[in-house]
Amino acid sequence: MILEYDKLVLASILGAPLFRVVQIRRWIFSRKTYDFNLMTDLSREFRFGLIERFGSVFCGKELACEVSGDFTKKLLIEWLDGECVECVLLCDDRGHRTACISTQVGCAMGCLFCASGMNGFVRNLTRGEILEQILRLNLLLPFGERLTHIVVMGIGEPLRNLDATLGALSEATAADGLNLSVRRVTISTVGVPAGIIKLAEAVKKGGKAYKLAISLHAPNNKIRSSIIPQNKIHNIQEILEAADYYFRQTGRRVTFEYTLIAGVNDRIEHAKELAALLAGKTAIVNVIPLNPVKELGFQTPSKQTTEKFVNQLKAGNIQVKIRMKKGDKINAACGQLRLKNL
Ligand code: SAH
Repeated sequence: MILEYDKLVLASILGAPLFRVVQIRRWIFSRKTYDFNLMTDLSREFRFGLIERFGSVFCGKELACEVSGDFTKKLLIEWLDGECVECVLLCDDRGHRTACISTQVGCAMGCLFCASGMNGFVRNLTRGEILEQILRLNLLLPFGERLTHIVVMGIGEPLRNLDATLGALSEATAADGLNLSVRRVTISTVGVPAGIIKLAEAVKKGGKAYKLAISLHAPNNKIRSSIIPQNKIHNIQEILEAADYYFRQTGRRVTFEYTLIAGVNDRIEHAKELAALLAGKTAIVNVIPLNPVKELGFQTPSKQTTEKFVNQLKAGNIQVKIRMKKGDKINAACGQLRLKNL
């Protein structure tokens, strides 16, 4: 799998000078060409060598591509070992072309309202498998268009598979990769303090300062523990401390995601408590009305409830955005991705 390797490693594996690797990368990243046979500025012999060693650039198989009316496309990809993940392309009328990618097969976090963890955790995706999702979604765009944003908000907990995730994102943001702006890449986490600190440390050492989003979803530990089992291991205070550290080290404002679930975390008191919890922080709250997952039984609050909640947060001086629902008709919205369409 050629996408597993960075430039230097690839050059050494191939026993080729770096400029050959630069040529291959140009085909892959700029010319959306994934068949070694078509890389015509490489010698026949060299191409055969590549085919013998790697087959083709992609190692996964596209099992399904579903399209929804709101310009959302969902891909189901099967890997060499038969495991599958989903990933999504979201397009809007502001010109945003966003890839939502998965980092694991299944998820160990087990959040009660999310489909991705329903069948437990299977394995981490590799750097190449994560990068392949990005490239396949980029390929769905019409000629001349390319991805503008990446959100690591698909299946899995990226901070439990940090090295592979960062490897893939580094190619997506490399000047000779997809050349996406680092500011347009968001990593969403359930809140793994050690991972957040590791990310901040990496930035301090010259790494890329991606946008960090934390799935808070509750104003206190009692509610959070009732919907996010991980909260019993790392509670809100630990997570906020790590988030503060990330902000101090990177200067990047942290986003707190708050999935509104009817009767669970959507009352005015909860909004007040959340505003108090985040008071004085340079943060933004992203309110996501629940995307229902049939088997899980939670309900989406009414529009009025959502509005009241948001207004209460604003009254508490909290910056708020509501995440528009996208792709729910094809179960491609947040928390609806799973291993296979059953
Ligand atoms: N594991 C990471 C990324 C995965 S999900 C994380 O926990 O952040 C991306 C976002 O969608 C998270 O905030 C997640 O909590 C939220 N989400 C999960 N299920 C959802 C649902 N059914 N409706 C709305 N948002 C959901």
